[in-house]
Amino acid sequence: MKSGPRVERFFCEGCGLCARLCPYGAIRMEETVSGEWFVSGTRRGSFVHARLGVAQGNSGRLVAQIRRAAERIAEEEKLEYVVIDGPPGIGCPVIASLSGVDCALVVTEPSLSGLHDARRVIETAAHFAIPVKLAVNKYDLNPEMSVEIEDFCRGKGIQFVGRIPFDPAVVEALSAGRNVIDSGNSPAGDEIRKIWELLIR
Ligand code: SF4
Repeated sequence: MKSGPRVERFFCEGCGLCARLCPYGAIRMEETVSGEWFVSGTRRGSFVHARLGVAQGNSGRLVAQIRRAAERIAEEEKLEYVVIDGPPGIGCPVIASLSGVDCALVVTEPSLSGLHDARRVIETAAHFAIPVKLAVNKYDLNPEMSVEIEDFCRGKGIQFVGRIPFDPAVVEALSAGRNVIDSGNSPAGDEIRKIWELLIR
């Protein structure tokens, strides 16, 4: 007996494309709650974030919702920038994070898998004509690989904006409930400040 196409619910991201394309109208989308989003106040301004429900690993729609909220707050408060912390990979939430941004900063780690993942997200950004800059985190854990990543950037015409060293000050700041930027000078914090200056130039 032949069986027709079947939706694997754990892989479905709820994008709705199949319902839109099905010539027989055989697929119906239903609204479900995949997570909740919040606006929190921080020392650095408003922070819009979300918590996904159990087994709701992917939700481009939730990312889009968060972005709309952040953009509305930025307009109301006349802020110059909205910074989006995108997820790893190249799935639906990454595309929802990338679409329409002025610039994407790829932060990778000095390993073969780091370079591989960076390559994939750079190709995704190129597909949407988004300018990309790249920084290496904990570069001193593998300096040779960091050089290889820098060479890769040169070869692709990607601006290399910084090398963040491994720095215990990051963990100390996080354990104290702060970020490394608000914790005075430190090798990692100073490099992140330099990267920010290069990003907004
Ligand atoms: S909603 Fe999107 S991810 Fe889910 S089955 Fe349809 S096309 Fe695939």
